[in-house]
Amino acid sequence: MHITRLFIDGNLEVGQEIILAENSAHHVLHVLRKKADDELILFNGKGGEYSAKISDINRNNVTVNIHEYTDVNRESPLQISLGLSILKRDAMNTALQKATELGVSKIVPVETTNTTVSRAHLQKRESQWQKVIVTACEQSGRTQVPALESVHSFNDYLCIDLCTDLCTNQYTDSENLKLIASTTAKMCISEIEHPAKSISLIIGPEGGFTDAEITLAVEKGFQPVSIGKRILRAETAPAVLLTLLQYRWGDF
Ligand code: SAH
Repeated sequence: MHITRLFIDGNLEVGQEIILAENSAHHVLHVLRKKADDELILFNGKGGEYSAKISDINRNNVTVNIHEYTDVNRESPLQISLGLSILKRDAMNTALQKATELGVSKIVPVETTNTTVSRAHLQKRESQWQKVIVTACEQSGRTQVPALESVHSFNDYLCIDLCTDLCTNQYTDSENLKLIASTTAKMCISEIEHPAKSISLIIGPEGGFTDAEITLAVEKGFQPVSIGKRILRAETAPAVLLTLLQYRWGDF
């Protein structure tokens, strides 16, 4: 039987009684139509997961009791930081969902020259993006939630190099690979000899990267990579690239 997994933003421990937050309670009550005594799995992104039972349910509130902790880890050994160019609404949601299922550790939304989305709507969209990521973690069994960074311009992303700060304490430069997905690149992922424990990957928007952006990325140490002769849609590219990276260096 499939048991619903729910993300809880807070501390969890065996023996604890929790009244679910409004949005989770609404989901449990009105979407999943759970009843008293039904089992749930809770996780907070700090590792492992908790078995819990619904002890009380009424029109608006759901109370659960945690009765067991399972020390499980479904994270990839490969740390991937994804610089994801901001896409149109549905495409961005798809890209974020697939990136989360495929185990990225960090996502940085990036504004590029060809980004078409207006700044005015970004704040609302950021909370929507966070929801998409959490839902994908619940569904896929992830025990950590990828960090969603604030929106960065392409230049800031390359210069601040958010991609490597994730791993600076753990890995040396020789274990960190920086890639920019480009439809004009000559090198395929299978040709990269470099060992990698962490990867920084940036993927372009619907209109692609400009030549100047590719040149700047190369100056900053990013290698352009291709995933074949066909041009993939911007929401397909993250799923394909991340699958290949996991296959080559990660958890397949
Ligand atoms: N018209 C654009 C298409 C962009 S597709 C162009 O020709 O560049 C959106 C992004 O997905 C690209 O910027 C790139 O990062 C990635 N992508 C799509 N197909 C790819 C391929 N075959 N190889 C490498 N990256 C690809």
